[in-house]
Amino acid sequence: MGLDTIVSEVPRVALVEPLTTARALRGPFDYAVDDTVGVGSVLRVPFGGRVIDGVVTGLTDASDHELAAPIEVRPDDIPPELVDLALWLAEEYCSTPARGLGLVTAPGGARAKTELHATAARPPLPDERLTDGQRELLASLPCRASGPELGALRRLEARGLVRIDSRAVRRAPPFTAVGSSSVTAPTLTPEQDDALAEIRAAPRGDRLLLHGVTGSGKTEVYLQVAADTLARGESVLVLVPEIALTPQIVSRFTERFGDTVAVLHSGLSAGARYDEWRRLRSGEARVCVGPRSAVFAPLENLGLVVVDEEHDPTYKNDGDPRYDARRVAMRRARQAGALLLAGSATPRPEAVFSLRRLRLPVRVDGRPLPPVELVDMRTAEHTLHPHTAEALADARKAIVLLNRRGWSNFLTCRTCGFVWMCPSCDVSLVLHRASGSLACHHCGHRERVPSACRACGSVSIVRHGTGTERLADELTVSAGRPVLRLDADTADPAATLAAFQAAPTAILIGTQVVAKGHDFPDVDLGVVVDADATLRFPDFRAEERTFALVTQLAGRAGRGADGRVLVQTIAPDARSLVLAAQHDSDGFLDGELARREALRYPPYSTLIRIVCGAPDAATAHRAASAIRAKLGTDAMGPASLFRLRGRERSQVVVKARERRPAVAAVRAAVETVARDRTHRDLVLSVDVDPQ
Ligand code: ADP
Ligand code: ZN
Ligand code: ZN
Repeated sequence: MGLDTIVSEVPRVALVEPLTTARALRGPFDYAVDDTVGVGSVLRVPFGGRVIDGVVTGLTDASDHELAAPIEVRPDDIPPELVDLALWLAEEYCSTPARGLGLVTAPGGARAKTELHATAARPPLPDERLTDGQRELLASLPCRASGPELGALRRLEARGLVRIDSRAVRRAPPFTAVGSSSVTAPTLTPEQDDALAEIRAAPRGDRLLLHGVTGSGKTEVYLQVAADTLARGESVLVLVPEIALTPQIVSRFTERFGDTVAVLHSGLSAGARYDEWRRLRSGEARVCVGPRSAVFAPLENLGLVVVDEEHDPTYKNDGDPRYDARRVAMRRARQAGALLLAGSATPRPEAVFSLRRLRLPVRVDGRPLPPVELVDMRTAEHTLHPHTAEALADARKAIVLLNRRGWSNFLTCRTCGFVWMCPSCDVSLVLHRASGSLACHHCGHRERVPSACRACGSVSIVRHGTGTERLADELTVSAGRPVLRLDADTADPAATLAAFQAAPTAILIGTQVVAKGHDFPDVDLGVVVDADATLRFPDFRAEERTFALVTQLAGRAGRGADGRVLVQTIAPDARSLVLAAQHDSDGFLDGELARREALRYPPYSTLIRIVCGAPDAATAHRAASAIRAKLGTDAMGPASLFRLRGRERSQVVVKARERRPAVAAVRAAVETVARDRTHRDLVLSVDVDPQ
């Protein structure tokens, strides 16, 4: 008996976490494996009469069970650090290991694409018998082996003249640069230089916040720190809010670093996404740029994590697990000993509190920020104040922000007062005139625009309020120049932005997406039509959001020309608006942190929201009460919420000083109540750090 056999008899037991969404099924389960399997391997395993996929989360050498062996080892294993990250995330956000692991596995639905390629194996002998066609074919080598030539090439292969092998073909995302770096870095401004020097001096694992006005050159600083990191042989992760709306930052990275940049986002074809993931996994690409899900990119040897526009709400995932990519990014950076560099013109109080702040106080072009005027709407009769209408008539290029999609907010019957409501949610339906429908903005329900009242038959129907569709229509009539609309109903946001950029004079109207990362040098007017819509929102972040919205819009206006911003409001004395008008972000943040501390809101506490949904209100309320009872004094509620997607809902909110024990207590309470069969058809959702 040889030594090999003895070695292979040492039992190797893999702890496998099944990748299934069922909350009740919790691993890990033990399987017997050989030494090709490690932490992060993805296995197909027999499981209770079925076959399922699972991820190896640990290895050991003994088990109390009769062990089965895996059926297959899947090709794309996960880096072990990402297995750790996924398990941490599952705990941190009260989810399951399977759902955490589901975030870090290779994108599904695609495999590597290969094509056959022919090369010359040997030159033909002087007297070798070949047809003219064959000689032509040999002369064209190397070439792709496909179509009608494939048969001929195969015959030449059989004679030893040609070698045919299969090669991976890259399905590249649209608009990525190919080739190596081309655009060189500009000379930095003194402010950028100072910031860069501080970043370079920062110890490993430091966490920094680059607080700089729009156009202050933050992206250029990221690029230079990224170049340093690559030069050290380490990799770089860059998170951005939404790729469709921020193509500029992607192209700046690809222009600077070429093929070593991979882009990961849901807009890619399954094939391209898989190939980008593979390029990252193999180390061929060492920079990943993408939105929140890119925080799970399979990069190893991470040296830098950038979170651009860190204030952006899209960093929070709205399905289970309800993770916050900013927090996950911090965890990843800490795990790898990498530098975390967040940036924003309007950082969150949480970021100011927990990161070391560096500043870029002035624009690269040296221009001042545009003046912001508050327009008092308390006596106004129309959607646009006469003062705003006049400014719009004078502006060359304007951005108009109205945070309401559709034509009008709701419809009522003038005769009997009937209000058109969603059948599944307790909210009114919004009129979308172009598509001839009424839509629920919460569940997606749609119905035809009514011609008569359902209750009394009257044809006198009133449309209340103004959304982006209606305002765009009104402005098209009055403005006499192109009016472009950008909101969730816009089919091609990138094309809309490009059209606005190219137009010498135009108005761009839309929801808050119009205030995001695009860079238009010649916008001379920004308008917030209804600042109160965000300000009135019943949420402790309402002020922060309003401040950010106005400040971000101001950042888009008046880059080239001397622009200005008008903010229509019925609360012209509101602190967030007054300070935004003064460009006083330090004043705003100081006041906001003091207020949060006094009220014990984050970052001075952790909030956890538990929502119980059920077909009937009594069950939802009973479950929420049971959870509340288990959680004690930190918990508030139950409070009923409006019916959503046919479910009555009741919520409990926990406001705790200590994060870990609070999360653990919530997890335990939720699991107990979920197991209790007396709550029929109960759906529980837990949101740690709700937005
Ligand atoms: P931010 O990310 O803070 O909005 P950017 O990095 O996008 O700012 O810079 C704004 C503009 O100024 C961009 O067009 C960028 O190319 C340019 N820019 C940045 N830094 C410099 C520099 N040092 N010299 C010249 N132009 C610069
Ligand atoms: Zn009626
Ligand atoms: Zn609905």
